[in-house]
Amino acid sequence: MSIKENLENIKYKISQAEKKSGRKEGSVKLMAVSKFHPAEAVVEAFDAGQFLFGENRVQEASEKFPPLIEAHPEINVHMIGQLQSNKVKKAVTFASCIQSVDRLDLLKEIEKQCAKLDRTIKILFEVHTGEESKSGYESEALLRESIEAVAKGEFPHIIPCGFMTMAPFTDDEKLIRKSFITLRELSETLRREYTNLPLTELSMGMSGDFEIAIEEGSTLVRVGTAIFGERDYSK
Ligand SMILES: *Cc1c(COP(=O)(O)O)cnc(C)c1O
Repeated sequence: MSIKENLENIKYKISQAEKKSGRKEGSVKLMAVSKFHPAEAVVEAFDAGQFLFGENRVQEASEKFPPLIEAHPEINVHMIGQLQSNKVKKAVTFASCIQSVDRLDLLKEIEKQCAKLDRTIKILFEVHTGEESKSGYESEALLRESIEAVAKGEFPHIIPCGFMTMAPFTDDEKLIRKSFITLRELSETLRREYTNLPLTELSMGMSGDFEIAIEEGSTLVRVGTAIFGERDYSK
């Protein structure tokens, strides 16, 4: 199957999942996760109408995306992997959103680097929702501390857009669903409390579980393998 065919196939499944769960058609965005795949694969997806991409590692993304964005300004890339503070400076030069914000210190560094560039950036708060998943805010208290700081206006160059999570790596659909429900409920609670923040995005669901995620309220699914094929980690 070509990347184009894979994209069509996934878009069809997304629309079926939207219908099945009574969601509005077109309410779920598709991100193509291109980590470990070359720029040619991104171009192939772009030619098939895909504009939103996700990458895990700043170094890899910074080699791949700036020339692509220069040629095609419609292309957006979000950082979705755990981010070391010393990589923020480079990441904010090309990423339109950082989905993997998991600590207050990272917000401070993003603010500092965006202020220097006189740009604003979108962020999502990544929340740890499953036993086996490893990334994201570990506790609601720490998450609330960060949101409170944002709500007080401490980070004028940061636009908080919502939440992200990774379900545990398991075949147990119940556990996966539980993780998505946890994020949705948490987001509903926080949205009610912080009505002045645009916390509308729920980034959840990957190749193996995006249909479950959509049933549980996902607004953005991050799909890699099902679009680009298996990743070759030896490269
Ligand atoms: C790699 C990755 C994805 C995509 O995973 P697939 O199973 O290949 O679809 C999604 N989200 C995050 C955070 C990732 O690291």
